[in-house]
Amino acid sequence: MSAHPDVLCVGHASYDLIFSIDHHPQADEKTTANSFLGCGGGPAANAALAVARMGYSAAFAGYLGNDIYGQQHCRELIAEGVDTHLLQRGEAPTPLSAIMVKPDGARALVNYKSRHRCQPQAFPQGLSSIHPSVMLFDGHEPDLSAVLVERARQLRIPMVLDAGSLHVGTEQLYRQVDYLVCSEKFATQITADNGVEHSLDLLAESAPCVVITLGERGLVWRRGGESGCVPAFPVDAVDTTGAGDVFHGAFAAGVAGGYAWDDLLRLASAAGALCCTRLGARPAMPTRQEIDAFLASR
Ligand code: ADP
Repeated sequence: MSAHPDVLCVGHASYDLIFSIDHHPQADEKTTANSFLGCGGGPAANAALAVARMGYSAAFAGYLGNDIYGQQHCRELIAEGVDTHLLQRGEAPTPLSAIMVKPDGARALVNYKSRHRCQPQAFPQGLSSIHPSVMLFDGHEPDLSAVLVERARQLRIPMVLDAGSLHVGTEQLYRQVDYLVCSEKFATQITADNGVEHSLDLLAESAPCVVITLGERGLVWRRGGESGCVPAFPVDAVDTTGAGDVFHGAFAAGVAGGYAWDDLLRLASAAGALCCTRLGARPAMPTRQEIDAFLASR
């Protein structure tokens, strides 16, 4: 256990059941999967694992149930070297996702979440010893996030928000972080679909650095008075599950590593692109060596 990880990822952990299928089943249709993969998921937990796989130290703060899915996910985090001393366990079931992926990468997804929320006071050793270089939030676990945002502010720890969609958790956080790295969906929801440029203008009033990721179209960014775009690296995408989570993990790791802005965006884009080249989020997360080799080949 380290009180000083490079990145503390705060938020959602789940378990993903991923089926590769030829077509998405219609109502009352039964279909057989060509392959199956079970692995841990959730934006913050995935990001923690992505950080660890890149050779940076990572910790995860969030919740997993005491059921078989929670046990298996916890084992995965520990096996990859993610610090789990801020992982809360309990009787509420582990959130589950059933994901059906077609050969062209299109996904259908069903998820189940219990109403469990991590309570900050329930952490036995408290939260006051943790002092990461960067905190990454995914907008889930709002009570825990509120306490950690306050701690980050007091200690001047840079904060990154992965805002996947607009909900109570992301609404609470997006004006408080140093780096707002959001999906096109979040950007669209926040500005009632007036275009990406308009979203950047508006979001830049709330956060000093804004990145809007656009899937295979790459990203646009605004930082102080500067703005720009970075196209996605062209790859043969097999499954885009987890690309955003890996992007956010790599981005936070790059902030912890002191990367210059352009290099930071390239690093995160390469990590996101490489994640698309294999099935599932976890098995596809690249190592630092893979990212370096990929960038060197471009
Ligand atoms: P989210 O799932 O959070 O909406 P995105 O789908 O926008 O995230 O993906 C995040 C980043 O990952 C993109 O900005 C891009 O750099 C990379 N990425 C995503 N999909 C692809 C793809 N098909 N090909 C190459 N890179 C991709």
